[in-house]
Amino acid sequence: MYGFNDHLKPMPFTGLRALLQGSSRYSIRMATEGSIEQTFVQLEGGIQRLTLPLPTGPKHVHCYLAGRTLFDTGLGLADAPWSAVEAERIAITHFHPDHVGGAEAAARATGATVFQGGLDYAQCERVWGSDDWPERIASWFVRHGAPAAVADDLIAQGHAFAPFVRYAVEPDLLYEGSEVDGWEVLELPGHADGHLGFLRDGVLIAGDHLLQRISPAVGLYPESRPDPLGDYLTSLERTIELAPRIVYPGHGEPILDAGVRARELIEHHRHRLDETAEALGGEPRSAYEISVDVFGAELEPTQRRFAVAETLSHLERLVREGRAARGGDDQRVFYTGP
Ligand SMILES: [Zn+2]
Repeated sequence: MYGFNDHLKPMPFTGLRALLQGSSRYSIRMATEGSIEQTFVQLEGGIQRLTLPLPTGPKHVHCYLAGRTLFDTGLGLADAPWSAVEAERIAITHFHPDHVGGAEAAARATGATVFQGGLDYAQCERVWGSDDWPERIASWFVRHGAPAAVADDLIAQGHAFAPFVRYAVEPDLLYEGSEVDGWEVLELPGHADGHLGFLRDGVLIAGDHLLQRISPAVGLYPESRPDPLGDYLTSLERTIELAPRIVYPGHGEPILDAGVRARELIEHHRHRLDETAEALGGEPRSAYEISVDVFGAELEPTQRRFAVAETLSHLERLVREGRAARGGDDQRVFYTGP
């Protein structure tokens, strides 16, 4: 899942500056035991891929440099290589920590202008710019049936993680149809409500909208668009129509047949919708209970959070398709079969 294709000839990241300046390559290793190396890879069309380590999940995230435009910035870890990157513009695909977390440091080191989606920046400020987001999201999960211990874990984790996320304040805002250095801005909601893609000459910089081996998480969260899975399925259909020649994702390898991958993901969610519908009956059940049926009982708190949010996005889609009903009140929310 995390390897690189041989034909891409990964080189150590500090080759970035060396390559830009036409001198020989050299390398550094990340100090962290077991984490991946920072790497710099030359891709077709003069695009360069900078890979940064992550402490969790897929263990790495890709940033891309096209001319003087940098796409995404990794998590805000202290040893990111921004002084070696010559960028005038930084464009953010979405506000999740592994993409926006390094934006402030990258902007400071390069002097670049930061661009971010209008809706995405509003959510970024709401989540990372407020002190009480972990409490708000924890109470939302309790409302959807999570036990108090799970909610407490969420609060502790949320506060521990937030200091690593340093987004850039007051970016230039982007919308569908905006342009950055010749890249057309596409709004591709689903994985994040305000997720952007950047399209130029058949190349789509896709963030986490489309990943080769991972099904991008599509969750329902408080204060967000009401039907993220419906949004995502529409964005996947749009991707099939756009038929980009190559997709550069935030994690994993480039995607050469975007239409095939988009169809696989649509199928995956159709199947998951059926599984979720089967977990419903006449008795009201919470999203938390249903997530245990669909995703199993043994999950770490972070994984459970994703599972509940993902279950909710499927439940809300089922409500819109007439296959489920939502009930309850301000304190508790339940779902039943049709
Ligand atoms: Zn990501």
